[in-house]
Amino acid sequence: GCGICPKKCPFGAINIINLPTNLESQVTHRYSANSFKLHRLPTPRPGQVLGLVGSNGIGKSTALKILSGKLKPNLGRYDNPPDWQAVIKYFRGSELQNYFTKILEDDLKAIVKPQYVDRIPKAIRSADKTVRTLIEAQASMDNMEEVLDILELNHIMDRDVNLLSGGELQRFAIGTVCVQQADVYMFDEPSSYLDVKQRLSAAKVIRSLLRPDDYVICVEHDLSVLDYLSDFICVLYGKPAVYGVVTLPASVREGINIFLDGNIPTENLRFREESLTFRIAEAADEFMADRSRAFQYPSMEKTLGSFHLKIDAGDFTDSEIIVMMGENGTGKTTFCKMLAGATAPDGNQKVPGMKVSMKPQKITPKFEGTVRQLFFKKIKTAFLLPQFQTDVVKPLKLEEFIDQEVKTLSGGELQRVAIVLALGMPADIYLIDEPSAYLDSEQRIIAARVIKRFIMHSKKTAFIVEHDFIMATYLADRVIVFDGQPGIDARANTPESLLTGCNKFLENLDVTFRRDPSNYRPRINKLNSQLDQEQKLSGNYFFLE
Ligand code: ADP
Ligand code: ADP
Ligand code: MG
Ligand code: MG
Repeated sequence: GCGICPKKCPFGAINIINLPTNLESQVTHRYSANSFKLHRLPTPRPGQVLGLVGSNGIGKSTALKILSGKLKPNLGRYDNPPDWQAVIKYFRGSELQNYFTKILEDDLKAIVKPQYVDRIPKAIRSADKTVRTLIEAQASMDNMEEVLDILELNHIMDRDVNLLSGGELQRFAIGTVCVQQADVYMFDEPSSYLDVKQRLSAAKVIRSLLRPDDYVICVEHDLSVLDYLSDFICVLYGKPAVYGVVTLPASVREGINIFLDGNIPTENLRFREESLTFRIAEAADEFMADRSRAFQYPSMEKTLGSFHLKIDAGDFTDSEIIVMMGENGTGKTTFCKMLAGATAPDGNQKVPGMKVSMKPQKITPKFEGTVRQLFFKKIKTAFLLPQFQTDVVKPLKLEEFIDQEVKTLSGGELQRVAIVLALGMPADIYLIDEPSAYLDSEQRIIAARVIKRFIMHSKKTAFIVEHDFIMATYLADRVIVFDGQPGIDARANTPESLLTGCNKFLENLDVTFRRDPSNYRPRINKLNSQLDQEQKLSGNYFFLE
């Protein structure tokens, strides 16, 4: 099917997608005539973390706004909204009746970590905008020290929030929520801008909020983090910006597998044609690499202010993807810039003079005009090639917004434009810094495949920085592990195999992974679980199969 029609395709295209027939009677909220419709609601449970997963624009933030009591659901009657009593009556007999009754009558306090942390500094009214003042003003529990510790906020306590990086703002926002006494805690996309270690720390802090009567709800696109955070999961499916449907709660494994399969077995319902899997061997078969050229770079050093980076000499070939794994501040972007020739190493070492195309970590659109005009200006040759259209442009679904002004695009749309621009430039090396930022879980998997296919077909090399561990391990032929002290003294190890590299990286983090037997998805073991202990003893922090 083309994805436009929700039910059976009137044009006879193959369409195996079937939806519940009684959806019309299950509208929870509609913003206005012909606008987005949300069907059903996730049901939070006291004492457990509810995880929400689904595409961008499918209604996750809307669901959080409703469950926090900030948005009164209109049950689809946007022109004549019902009062709260009627809403509670509508949910009669379900756990939601109980939940909304408590929100209204017991005056439960709900706090939300907003999705867009970049907007926080502007929204803060107080004159004193230092991290310390702002967090201390909110603290109403006795966990502040612990929260600041785990989130590594202590060294930025006296900084103005206007000066914080994305990752620092995210940790500040999570910290501000976690030090408050409340009954309902919500986190809308807590992992954005964070590295793997910080994602796990954030998950730990969030889970530490659980008390028998508390509700905790998280929206998350990094499937390893969602897995680690949640006690149960609701999936949202439908057509982005048109309608969203919330599934019944499922166990964590079942919920993530429903999302990946695009299929709800208990309802005999399919909402996506394709299943998404993570089998590395399969990927390797599909992309039989034919490597012929080898390149070397020397051992190098770089000093930037009080930061020092030591790079071990390494090599790479064509048709190869090398993923850089390491904490924020260990020099990954610096190394990218050195490979690109934009930053010179200390002394007189030279990197091989190769043509480099780079997708930067920060995307700030300055172009006046539409996406199509931008592509014609920057990458006309590639853009007109049928192979580039099939391998890159079509799968990233750019046609939906190709005639929109670049300056009006959402984060996820801009990220996809930036990936296409980077891959469309003729080059020997493609440096792709954090391609998963702003993408939903499905777009991440598609983007990873697009990049992989492009590198194999074009026989080029890619260096990729990626913190979504599932995406990183799917992409990587080999890895460079960055270790040492972030911001002070770091080291880029020589490229090594995915297995030894992940083992080194995960050992530093004290985390082990297993694989789901049905779709080979890497899953984090719970700390000190039997598997965790066994794998640590045998040194198997990660498995390829
Ligand atoms: P998600 O969090 O899953 O990305 P949202 O809940 O933010 O999705 O949005 C779902 C849809 O509802 C989007 O198409 C969005 O544009 C639309 N929407 C969100 N808020 C409003 C609003 N206040 N008025 C009209 N439409 C809205
Ligand atoms: P990563 O990409 O791994 O997060 P970066 O390469 O961006 O790390 O930065 C590594 C460290 O170098 C950081 O602590 C950063 O603040 C510091 N740094 C980067 N550029 C400069 C600069 N021009 N002057 C001083 N310090 C810098
Ligand atoms: Mg959202
Ligand atoms: Mg970086």
